[in-house]
Amino acid sequence: MIIVLSGPGGVGKGTVVKRLLARDDDITLSRSWTTRPQRPGETDDAYHFVDRATFEAHLHSGGFIETNQLADCYYGTPLPKDLGDQDSDLLLEIEVNGGRQVRDVDPEVLLVFIDAPSLSEQRARLRARGDEEEHVELRVEIGAAERIEAETLGYERVINDDLERCVDEIERLINMHRNDGRVG
Ligand code: 5GP
Repeated sequence: MIIVLSGPGGVGKGTVVKRLLARDDDITLSRSWTTRPQRPGETDDAYHFVDRATFEAHLHSGGFIETNQLADCYYGTPLPKDLGDQDSDLLLEIEVNGGRQVRDVDPEVLLVFIDAPSLSEQRARLRARGDEEEHVELRVEIGAAERIEAETLGYERVINDDLERCVDEIERLINMHRNDGRVG
């Protein structure tokens, strides 16, 4: 099955993903393609970094389940057949617009929206990681719009107030979803 994790900037999605992968051997992380330049200190496997022409060629050959444009950079999730291990569940860390596209292709997808306990906590986390003040407000606004869209799409909302508790709750949702698939 496909699991989509979304949530506003500064909510700790990356850490949640690492904990989930460490706990559950049956989950494989999807590596997105992007035309965004690699950031200093970002690992080579954070994304499949490509130029625009390569991205567009893959897009036109039907190679993505979903794509999104942010600023003037493209992001896309490659089709699962290109991702190797088909026996495990596939985890996508993408924004809500991408979650909608995946759901259109696979109605059985598990959509999870990880949220901060409060807006003031989200702002504090963004500031703590060094975001500039104008970016903090922008991320908070984008997060608010995503929260509304996520609700409309039927995302499960999980609050990241405590990392282990949050990961426990997501694992519980994943296991319930796995069992649903078997019964249904
Ligand atoms: P960043 O540039 O900070 O790595 O990512 C920016 C946003 O794009 C994040 O919200 C991230 O979850 C989202 N993102 C990363 N890869 C993909 C993708 O393949 N598809 C979509 N729709 N969003 C993505």
